[in-house]
Amino acid sequence: KYYNMVEDMKGKIRVFCRIRPANRNEAAQGGVIVVDKIDEFSVTIDTPRGQREFQFDKVFSAEASQEDLFHDTNRLIQSTIDGYNVCIFAYGQTGSGKTFTMVGDKEQKNPGLMPRSFNAIFDIIRENSSKFDFKVSAYMLELYNDRLQDLFVSQAGEAHAQTQSHGQARRVEIKRNRKGVVFAQGAETKEASSAQELYALFQQACANRHISATKMNVESSRSHLIVGIRVESKNLTNGSVSTGKLSLVDLAGSERAAKTGAKDHQLKEANSINKSLSALGDVISALSAELPHVPYRNSDAGLIGWKRQNSHDRQHLSLRMQS
Ligand code: ADP
Ligand code: MG
Repeated sequence: KYYNMVEDMKGKIRVFCRIRPANRNEAAQGGVIVVDKIDEFSVTIDTPRGQREFQFDKVFSAEASQEDLFHDTNRLIQSTIDGYNVCIFAYGQTGSGKTFTMVGDKEQKNPGLMPRSFNAIFDIIRENSSKFDFKVSAYMLELYNDRLQDLFVSQAGEAHAQTQSHGQARRVEIKRNRKGVVFAQGAETKEASSAQELYALFQQACANRHISATKMNVESSRSHLIVGIRVESKNLTNGSVSTGKLSLVDLAGSERAAKTGAKDHQLKEANSINKSLSALGDVISALSAELPHVPYRNSDAGLIGWKRQNSHDRQHLSLRMQS
């Protein structure tokens, strides 16, 4: 049954493309739009060496709303509540619209996938509360310079705790339990009983992030943001329990260091950001080419953190990574 379900899925990993509108600066600096044409599944762009066409599972035009984007996600939220592991991440260079898509604008006039998902989780929970008992908990992490940082622990607080105890900062590591579930060992998990509570936790986490300005985009974030939401549901009729996880990831910019004018410690940042991103790229290339070896463990921080053991595992991972 399990294998049939995997076979039935349209793609193990689904790749969507979103085009953002040009902003005033880009027009003023003489920027041109290189997207020549799009349809539901492809984008054609003009390059100095002619036109190139790229295929996707779905393409969203510059006119697509946050609601349009979320529409396809709702199904994945239901899967999480049904006990599956789902991961949605945004990849692209700084300024391409990752944070807008995942989080939304600063004023939250146009909320993105994360706040919409928080609401959707609790909407589904409310609809099913007569048959199931639900428990929602979350961890929020930042991967910065190959180090995982728990965003529920403020950095000032952590520094203080270190001086007090002369100890080491608490280490968060990616591990996998015997059931094959990937989890962040050492990360603080907090429970939420409403979408508002979950959003408040998220805001607290964002306040603890590293942010530094680069020439390319003053708002750019040099780190990956990882939001993990566990949904445990207990069937009130037979007492069986299932657990699903939704991972929502806003990756750091995919640009090369040279382009951003990064220097010294910023260059170190760019290098480690790109190391983890290229490790991720290698995993996805290997999966899509169906290569016998998939380099899941090539990232120092273990973000990919997954050793392939057999083909069942491999399909399991693909399921987990559907996006
Ligand atoms: P990234 O996180 O990839 O660096 P941002 O999400 O911060 O990029 O987007 C850069 C700028 O473009 C922000 O000011 C953002 O509000 C705006 N933007 C991005 N995508 C859209 C969109 N689809 N519609 C309108 N504005 C957008
Ligand atoms: Mg961003």
